[in-house]
Amino acid sequence: NKGVVIVGTGQGGFQLAASLRQEGYEGAITMIGDEPGLPYQRPPLSKAYLKEGRAEAIQLRPESFYERNAIRLIAPERAISIDRQARAVETLTGRPIGYDHLVLATGARNAVPPIPGLDARNVHGLRSAADADTLRAGLAIKRRIIVIGGGFIGLEFAAVTVASGHHVTVVEAAPRLMARAVSPAMSEHFRLFHAALGTRLVLGTGVTEVLRGTDGLAMGVRLSDGKTLDGDMILLAAGVRPNVELAEAAGLAVANGIIVDNGLVTEDPSISAFGDCAAFPDPVGGELIRLESVQAATDQARTIARRLIGKFSGYDAVPWFWSDQSDWKLQIAGLGTGADEDVAIEYPKDRKLVFRFKMGQLLAVETINAAGEHMAARQLLRRAERVTRAALEKRRFDIGGLAK
Ligand code: FAD
Repeated sequence: NKGVVIVGTGQGGFQLAASLRQEGYEGAITMIGDEPGLPYQRPPLSKAYLKEGRAEAIQLRPESFYERNAIRLIAPERAISIDRQARAVETLTGRPIGYDHLVLATGARNAVPPIPGLDARNVHGLRSAADADTLRAGLAIKRRIIVIGGGFIGLEFAAVTVASGHHVTVVEAAPRLMARAVSPAMSEHFRLFHAALGTRLVLGTGVTEVLRGTDGLAMGVRLSDGKTLDGDMILLAAGVRPNVELAEAAGLAVANGIIVDNGLVTEDPSISAFGDCAAFPDPVGGELIRLESVQAATDQARTIARRLIGKFSGYDAVPWFWSDQSDWKLQIAGLGTGADEDVAIEYPKDRKLVFRFKMGQLLAVETINAAGEHMAARQLLRRAERVTRAALEKRRFDIGGLAK
């Protein structure tokens, strides 16, 4: 019994190992991860961990958990190839590791756009605990920070650093913030919010070059409108790319992610893939999608664990997501892609909702500081019967009432 081998010891890899034991799987479990230390969660990296740096606070479980559950953790070690015939994973320094079932949970890495100068030492990414440690060290003195990319991570980082007294500018090529993930109304709420926090926002303008001094360090950026900005620390937060190379080299199909079916299995029945690295069929529309969220990685891990112990289950969870930016908690239930109508509702005390519809049916609900409404939205979106705009309107968009 070679058991289950998991490549990647991130959020998803950890959850799969834990869920397998919870479900009563008795075979061997081996995890191979190229980051040092125990599996940890990434969300705090752009939030509390960036400020405090308490490594134990981000660990998913203490070392004793892995011992107690007979989960073999091989880290830091990189999986470099898969021999599908022999059913073994080759690693950079060790002997090949055989598997009965292999699961790829290799996550994603920062996208690096073709902008000259990004290799300067004071240009950083934020994906790992090591990245956050480097950034924290650099933030010990007051900085003029330029954030390239107005998505979740760039904005979370901006909120933390501007609150610590740094001068922060966010440059976003799209005309609005978090454009890939939220409605125009929600983008606008956040534009006003970040401006009020003191962050300078430059929208609809790309960075075309990182300007460097004679010491090689970045000293600013040139923008697509020809203007320049001064800065002595740059965060590159322009999205991520799925880590598909291992799968691709093994001959598995990849697109924007390792392609899997609704049970999260690749075209090789002995290999599954999930989390940030995998593209799966959207339970609603059927097209391949890839989600970058803790919830997706966690729910998909549970799906695989159940399948591996013989309880078939397809993955059809309602996606949800959160982002903490200063004292605003954004939560999104459902996927708003393809929405043709948005209805924005505002309550006192910074509570806001945006309902997103397609052809009169509810696709997604975005909330700020409204946890109850978010939970109600998740419940409603889980129902087989689609919630209509008309039904919500009849209830004056009281989503809590409708979910009861
Ligand atoms: P990961 O957690 O990235 O784990 C993949 C692991 O595999 C990594 O350790 C990687 O180094 C390793 N690996 C890759 N290739 C190999 C190889 N060949 N051999 C060995 N190991 C390998 N999500 C939310 O829902 N809410 C948030 O607020 C939020 N905030 C975030 C803030 C930051 C700064 C970041 C970076 C992410 C955030 N996310 C958030 C996203 C969330 O963390 C990811 O969606 C989640 O970690 C995905 O889990 P995963 O297991 O697929 O990938």
